[in-house]
Amino acid sequence: MENTLKAVEKWVKSHPYLKDIAALNTAFEKMLENFNVSADMPDIKHIKEQFIQGTPLLLTDLDLGIDNKAGAVFYEICKKGSESLIAELPEIMQNVLKDLSKLSEDNCIKIIKAVLEGNDTFLKEMAEKTGAAKEYLEYFAWVSIKKALSGVKAEIEEFISENGWQKGICPVCGNHASTAFFKHTKRGRQRFLHCDHCGTEWVYKRIGCPYCDNLDQKKMSIKDSEDEPDMRIDLCHNCNSYLKTYIGEDNNSAGKEGWASIHLDILMEDTGFTSKGSLVKP
Ligand SMILES: [Zn+2]
Ligand SMILES: [Zn+2]
Repeated sequence: MENTLKAVEKWVKSHPYLKDIAALNTAFEKMLENFNVSADMPDIKHIKEQFIQGTPLLLTDLDLGIDNKAGAVFYEICKKGSESLIAELPEIMQNVLKDLSKLSEDNCIKIIKAVLEGNDTFLKEMAEKTGAAKEYLEYFAWVSIKKALSGVKAEIEEFISENGWQKGICPVCGNHASTAFFKHTKRGRQRFLHCDHCGTEWVYKRIGCPYCDNLDQKKMSIKDSEDEPDMRIDLCHNCNSYLKTYIGEDNNSAGKEGWASIHLDILMEDTGFTSKGSLVKP
């Protein structure tokens, strides 16, 4: 946790315009600092077949108890969110948190379930009831899911790497990868994908578009930015999407989080290329 805060602080120092959005992340980290909740880790072997066939973990029969656990995190945010603790957040976010304070724990659990099942009807109903936009409910649900999964992240990522997940969608929650980064491993410098929604990271082939599986290098290009030597943008001309990639060497850098390069998304607006998998959009 301390590492995360330090990494964010370091990144914001060199990217001061990200201050507001970083404040939001930091506020949640601090808010949940002493709130200990972790998804269950039952024996994972029985779902191995389903996983190898391509079903993300949260969509298999594996019961991580995620609805209740993430629901408890969500409820904690709703309770704490109306306290003075959030005074440093932008006003719009303070108002959203005030709206969320109307939620019961039971409804928090139901929102998590609805987000994971893609039940839009229920989310719209809750949005109307609280006054907070549906997108915010989804955002807070994913922040909560990520927190609940953080305690079992290492075990889950070990299972993923043992069972060779090759897809561009997240092996845990099934969302598109939001960003990529490189990391030195026993096998050399490997490319990893990052999921903004649940925080999972997994190895992916070095070349190729994770969104359409295009491997033809002639249909891909790279956009570097002089102002941002630690980042590059990989463009796929087959599906017209782009992937922000952290190419720096700091394994703890906040640079691999989608929000940390939202300025690159602004740069890509009106270029005809779109991003996928981001939890926070400009
Ligand atoms: Zn995910
Ligand atoms: Zn593509």
